[in-house]
Amino acid sequence: MTAKLIKGSEIREQILAEIKEEVQKIKKSHGKVPGLVTILVGQNPASISYVTLKVKTAEECGFKEVQDNQPETISEADLLALIDKYNRDDSIHGILVQLPLPKHINEKKVLNAIDPDKDVDGFHPVNVGRLMIGGSEVKFPPCTPAGIQELIVRAGVETKGAEVVVVGRSNIVGKPIAMMMVQKGVGANSTVTIVHTATKDLAYHCKRADILIVAAGVPGLVKPEWIKPGACVIDVGVNRVGEKISEKTGKKVAILRGDVDFDEAVKVAGYITPVPGGVGPMTITMLMKNALKSLKFTLGIA
Ligand code: NAP
Repeated sequence: MTAKLIKGSEIREQILAEIKEEVQKIKKSHGKVPGLVTILVGQNPASISYVTLKVKTAEECGFKEVQDNQPETISEADLLALIDKYNRDDSIHGILVQLPLPKHINEKKVLNAIDPDKDVDGFHPVNVGRLMIGGSEVKFPPCTPAGIQELIVRAGVETKGAEVVVVGRSNIVGKPIAMMMVQKGVGANSTVTIVHTATKDLAYHCKRADILIVAAGVPGLVKPEWIKPGACVIDVGVNRVGEKISEKTGKKVAILRGDVDFDEAVKVAGYITPVPGGVGPMTITMLMKNALKSLKFTLGIA
């Protein structure tokens, strides 16, 4: 068997086209577009490239995008005041604070200062609680787990009654995706197991999975013999395992590997996401979806 590839890079384009179309319709009917502010503190190169991609995608979607760059030396009080300003700005529907923040600033305090109704990343404790309750209570599902669920749904994989095994229990991937898959509803209604470093027999659990979601950050952790034939394998891991010279640009680029031994797993699984080009492109896409949703909530059309 050769698994069907679930290409996030292609699904991303479909979703962005849907978002663009909806933004234009709302602009026509209500005269408003989603407003997204990205606050970047300092000059961390990885943060700059991530923020640049967010800004570019938001602009492509027809959003009002505000990139607010602040110096490394900004005080915690000034950053909190800035967030308060955007919390009260009616033209802003989503507030993003790029992490990491400088050491003198308490990240938790800053993230918790964002109005939960503008927290399009979905990390505020209020939104984590809403996700736990499920159904119509959920406003902003966190972006990477939402992207994973979208990939599963768009690939046409049955989730109702499926055994889902999630490797990893982080607050940004493992726990929320497990919570989303266990809820009643479309793309969910699964029987979910979460495994982690204290799990006694990782292989045993992985082998039971109809849908195996791996977010451990350990290159090649999941072996092909741990995969049930025909299973859907979602590899969230992005691990830098070396560098190479890009044929396109001639510049040094990272060699990326997932948490699954892809070359062998593809022979056993029914569906599999590649790394790169699988889950990766979905995160910013789902962020755009959340920002649009936020505008729709304020207009009462969500
Ligand atoms: P994290 O916070 O480091 O959590 C990793 C989880 O995996 C932990 O719960 C850990 O267990 C578990 N784990 C680690 N090694 C394991 C092992 N040998 N056996 C069983 N469980 C193990 O990582 P994260 O933030 O969730 O990210 C995970 C991976 O996804 C990373 O490669 C990251 O780069 C990638 N990622 C990709 C995207 C994207 O594509 N957009 C977004 C987010 C993350 P313990 O809790 O017991 O320590």
